[in-house]
Amino acid sequence: MPLRLYNTLGRTIEEFKPLVPGVVGFYGCGPTVYTYAHIGNLRAYVTHDILVRTLRNRGYTVQHVMNITDIGHLSGDSDSGEDKMLRSAAERGKTVLEVAELYTQAFFSDIERMNILRPGIVCKATEHIGDMIALIKRIEAGGYTYVAGGNLYFDISRFEHYGDLAMLRMKNLKAGARTDLDTNKRNPGDFVLWFTKSKFENQALVWDSPWGRGYPGWHIECSAMSMRYLGETFDIHAGGIDHVPVHHTNEIAQSEAATGKRPWVRYWVHNEFLVLDREKMSKSGGSFLTLQNLVDAGYDPLDYRYFLIGGHYRSQLQFSWDSLEGARNSRKSLVDRVRALGAEAVQPGAGSPALARLAAFHQALDDDLSTPRALAELWGLLRDGSAVSGEVLWTVLQMDTILGLNLRAAAEEAPEKDPESAAEIEGYIARRAEAKAAKDFALADSIRGELKEKGIILEDTKTGTMWRRG
Ligand code: AMP
Ligand code: ZN
Repeated sequence: MPLRLYNTLGRTIEEFKPLVPGVVGFYGCGPTVYTYAHIGNLRAYVTHDILVRTLRNRGYTVQHVMNITDIGHLSGDSDSGEDKMLRSAAERGKTVLEVAELYTQAFFSDIERMNILRPGIVCKATEHIGDMIALIKRIEAGGYTYVAGGNLYFDISRFEHYGDLAMLRMKNLKAGARTDLDTNKRNPGDFVLWFTKSKFENQALVWDSPWGRGYPGWHIECSAMSMRYLGETFDIHAGGIDHVPVHHTNEIAQSEAATGKRPWVRYWVHNEFLVLDREKMSKSGGSFLTLQNLVDAGYDPLDYRYFLIGGHYRSQLQFSWDSLEGARNSRKSLVDRVRALGAEAVQPGAGSPALARLAAFHQALDDDLSTPRALAELWGLLRDGSAVSGEVLWTVLQMDTILGLNLRAAAEEAPEKDPESAAEIEGYIARRAEAKAAKDFALADSIRGELKEKGIILEDTKTGTMWRRG
């Protein structure tokens, strides 16, 4: 069965065929490093990771490129609001580059803890200004630009296919569907390619350009850097669903205007949002949760990875502490079962039930990356009494090359490091709850102390007593 992906361009599930046999050019929009990534952002990177791992598993060489936005991203995606980097630097009393370095390193640490493979090429916007200027010159030469109020704009009315990705109607855009305070724009959908007249006093980072000293708009960086590393047309571009109407729409317009080649990107993959209390979680929208917040609450980053892959990337996912707790318990049982296999991995022979499970697992992923079904196949394999332990272990490890739950480490960890099974610990917790109910606090405390000596830490929460290995 071929790999099939939902392509936002055209809104259908399509068979994936790369431009060059055996090789996939893949660009995923990376973070704007003005603060920590929030757990919603991490959903986007886990989606990219599952896609990359699935492609590699199929034998493709994947050229994975990700940008780091360290310049030019305003708080509104269509050139409105403040410069995110500048504001953050001012608030923290640091330079823009110091802020960028701090949060870039924090981002790498987050993705490593989530077992997300680092893209082969991670490129910073500030190190590719020359590529952006060269690309803007080509767009200008094609007659797609105008200068107003000191800035260089992309004129969307000159680009016939503007808005195809988002299925936008040009006449609606002209009617001013977006409210934009930038009165220099001929059309509210027009966007800045190069700012020469800084919107902000003391703009920290500026470069010389044919349009004057200034800095690039946000969208041009992704067009310039993706083409720099992947060529003028490439296979897959990914990002969160919020990028469809503005950022990716503008990237397409710029890139196709510059090269005259269509389609610039052949498959567009967009993940749905992680939502918290029924609202989009956004970095600029105030309160948000980081991976470190989850770790501080006693969770392993892989609990969160397990939680994410339990949902399909195109469905909205509601975050709650209860569901994260559920994911932690499921992952714990998974690890316990893998450890309990207690066998050397053995490649299954033809006709083995483990191989049938592996085939079903791959089929699920081939069907637009259905990680929930893939996970169900993993569980089915572990519960299948007819399969030989060594073969089960081999198959589990194969599956984990895509799921990325570090099950090999779990399997290799000696069982004696885990003296108490989850069921035994639950038994202690139940006895402690009974003691507390009977107001026998001395007994309750001694049960807690006994567990502590065994390396098990109890935490009383609103939803009951949770435990972790200390
Ligand atoms: P940013 O750092 O804001 O440029 O966002 C990085 C990536 O995270 C982009 O692909 C966004 O589309 C994506 N993203 C932002 N918020 C969420 C969310 N709540 N859930 C899932 N993806 C998100
Ligand atoms: Zn981008």
